[in-house]
Amino acid sequence: MVQSVQRKNFGRNQVLRPSAAYTPSDEQEVLQILDRHNGQRIRAVGRLHSWSEAVLSDDVLLDLRRLNDVQLQSDGDQLVATVGAGCQIKRLLKELNREGATLHSLGLITAQTIAGAISTGTHGSGRNSMSHYVVGVRLARYDDSSGQATIEELNAGESLQAARCSLGSLGIILAVKIRCREQYNVQEHFTESRQLSDVLDAEASFPLQQFYLLPWRWSYFIQHRREDDRPRSCLARLYRLYWMGAMDYGLILQILFMERVMRSRRLIRLAFRRIIPTFLIRNWKVTDRSSSMLVMKHDAFRHIEIELFVRRDQLADALGFAKETIEVAGGRKSVLSADNQRQIEGLGMQEELAGLHDQYCHHFPICVRRVLPDDTLISMASGAGEDWYALSFISYAKPARYASFLLFASFMARSMSKLFLARPHWGKVCPLEADEITSLYPQFDTFRSVCNTFDPQGVFQNDWTAALLEVNGPTEDLP
Ligand SMILES: Cc1cc2nc3c(=O)[nH]c(=O)nc-3n(C[C@H](O)[C@H](O)[C@H](O)COP(=O)(O)OP(=O)(O)OC[C@H]3O[C@@H](n4cnc5c(N)ncnc54)[C@H](O)[C@@H]3O)c2cc1C
Repeated sequence: MVQSVQRKNFGRNQVLRPSAAYTPSDEQEVLQILDRHNGQRIRAVGRLHSWSEAVLSDDVLLDLRRLNDVQLQSDGDQLVATVGAGCQIKRLLKELNREGATLHSLGLITAQTIAGAISTGTHGSGRNSMSHYVVGVRLARYDDSSGQATIEELNAGESLQAARCSLGSLGIILAVKIRCREQYNVQEHFTESRQLSDVLDAEASFPLQQFYLLPWRWSYFIQHRREDDRPRSCLARLYRLYWMGAMDYGLILQILFMERVMRSRRLIRLAFRRIIPTFLIRNWKVTDRSSSMLVMKHDAFRHIEIELFVRRDQLADALGFAKETIEVAGGRKSVLSADNQRQIEGLGMQEELAGLHDQYCHHFPICVRRVLPDDTLISMASGAGEDWYALSFISYAKPARYASFLLFASFMARSMSKLFLARPHWGKVCPLEADEITSLYPQFDTFRSVCNTFDPQGVFQNDWTAALLEVNGPTEDLP
């Protein structure tokens, strides 16, 4: 059925105005739609939980939410699930849990679809991103010789590596085969430290940990996590309630009040220095099922986010640079430290920094997650070598007042991509020009050539991906 209504993403910073929109019920219907719209641009979306232009589509739009089957099989000693593209992660986890299984890697929320999540390299902490675990993708595209819509299975080689994280650019993903594992428990507790070295040393004992740099207090809160053979703690339910009350709702409501109602920078700084740290109970050790422990209700309130990936050897400098930039943006300082100021001048960005001064008061903990190198072409953690660390910067400003956050995000992405080779998350705010982004990925040329083979006319692109892939898009004389 055709319904062409305007749609907005979770963050309300992207608007889709498709000329036709479909919610097909099966693969055959997807093929029929492709044949009907042969020669037009066609994109699929998941649950629009991306902030980047990856979700944009102004021609034909497919929403595959009705393709949501889950089948779990054993493949040798591995568990593999075949999942309909539009299946949300929360439904997938429920189905897997029935069989005593779960995913290797999870983001903070579970509202995304499996196709949407892998298409932007969605990740958690201490493991590879979800894309890395994909062993097969079922793809609808146009047959090279007949020009008719056809289905292809990508199971190996560069085409699989490309399909593991493809920004929707290879064609329409119909189903994803992903490695799973047996269900497991995770133990968690919090500590606070002023030293990054303490935080990183703790990784040996707590490989799944993530940590938060608290702005204005400038200390680290470490969410120590590791797999645990013990059963669920008797206080696990109470811990979940505490977490929901204190963090998912209490913390955010306080931030919304300070940022949107009071609009008081002084209050924000005071709260982060003195009040918010009291919310966190230190050293309360709780064991719970992984799929409960690793996620939160981070999507309960609208917000906007940029996330920058740096290698481990750049982490300390990148965090120091972020702290100083936040202080300048918040009006507490007018320049960076001598070293960083020199670097910014070397990049010719001193005017941009001066323009950022006193424009944006950061008001959310900077979450830092370790992501192991992915076997993909362009997920943010792609490429062998040292582990990656994802630094996330979140704003709860009203959508109408995003401008100051976007100024900050743009400065951070432009400066950090040059100073630390930082890669912006494909699904989050991504303010770099096409050549600036693609130069961060040594295998981008390979990705581009796989895309050009699968989609030579550029019909599965929007303007943003077409610029990345250097394609012009469909022309009038297509069959
Ligand atoms: C509150 C919140 C919390 C988040 N937490 C995390 C986190 O912890 N870690 C993390 O890494 N990310 C996180 N994200 C980002 C999110 O995981 C990604 O942006 C993800 O891509 C969104 O999935 P989606 O199903 O909404 O897909 P969409 O945003 O709708 O689409 C994403 C991309 O996938 C493509 N796509 C979707 N379906 C198909 C298909 N069938 N065929 C071909 N292409 C397709 C789209 O064209 C688009 O390019 C978070 C986002 C929000 C809003």
